[in-house]
Amino acid sequence: MKAGKVFLVGAGPGDPELLTLKALKALKQADVVLHDELVSEEVLAYARPDARVIAVGKRGRGRSTPQGFIERLMIAEARRGHVVVRLKGGDPFVFGRGLEECAALAKAGVAFEVASGITSGLAAAAALGIPLTHRGLSHGAILVTGQRRGDEETDWEALARTGLPLVIYMGVSRCADIQRQLIAGGMAPGTPAAAVGDATRATQRSVVTRLDRLEQAMAEARIASPAILIVGEVARLATSLRANGNSAGDRATRRQPLRRRPR
Ligand code: SAH
Repeated sequence: MKAGKVFLVGAGPGDPELLTLKALKALKQADVVLHDELVSEEVLAYARPDARVIAVGKRGRGRSTPQGFIERLMIAEARRGHVVVRLKGGDPFVFGRGLEECAALAKAGVAFEVASGITSGLAAAAALGIPLTHRGLSHGAILVTGQRRGDEETDWEALARTGLPLVIYMGVSRCADIQRQLIAGGMAPGTPAAAVGDATRATQRSVVTRLDRLEQAMAEARIASPAILIVGEVARLATSLRANGNSAGDRATRRQPLRRRPR
C-alpha cells in the first residue's frame, strides 16, 4: 500500500487565482479534502470529482468540529494510504492553528507538508491598493486578532503607541471597543481606517473612513465577518492609483471624507 500523506494547505482569501501552484497540485491529487468554512467554493472546485470533500468548518464562535476529531480523521485517512489535503482559509500559520495540526501529525508519525497561502490581511490591503509598508510612512505592520480566548486581553493602547498600521483579523464584533482603546492609546480619531469583507471574492465589500467612524461605516456598508480592518496612515493611500484602469483597489469601495491630517 502506498504511504499516505497530509498536505496542510493555505487556500488563500477566496479568489482561486490566488492559490499557489503547490496548493493546486496537492488539491488535484487529494483523495480526501478537509476544509474550513472560510474556503471558497471556487477553490474547492479544483478537487477531483471523486475526492471526498468534508467540511470541518469553524466560523467565528459558531459550532465547529472538535480539533481532536479533525486530527484523528487526517491521521486515519493518511494511514489508509490516502493523500489528504487539510485546506485552511488564507495561510495555515496565520491564526490558523496550523502548528497544532502539524504537531498531531508528527506525533502520529504521519508524513506531512505545509503549503503557504496568501493570508487575508495582506490580500485585503492589496485589494484596496493599500501598501502596508511605505517609505516615509510605515516601516512595518502588525497582524493582530480582535478576538482572544477567555480573559486574555490585547494591549491596544500599546499597539496604538507603536505608530505602525494594524491589520486586524476577527475584529468585526469587537470593533467599537477596539476603536475606543486605540484612541485611548493616543491614536488620532481621524486616523484613516478601512474594512474589507469577503476580500478578493465576488462579494467583496469595503469602506475607507476614519478610526472613530469605523464601526458605523462598516455597519452602513453592511460589512460583516469575515472582514479585515486596517487602521493607520497607510489606509489613506487606498485606491490612490486607481485611475487609467489600474486594478489595485476595489471599485465598490466607499470613501468617507477624511480630515486632511489627523492631529
Ligand atoms: N488563516 C486565515 C485567518 C483565519 S482567522 C488567514 O490567513 O487569512 C479568520 C479571520 O480571517 C476572519 O475573522 C477574518 O478576519 C479573516 N478573513 C479570512 N478570510 C477573509 C476574507 N476573504 N476577507 C476578509 N477577511 C477574511
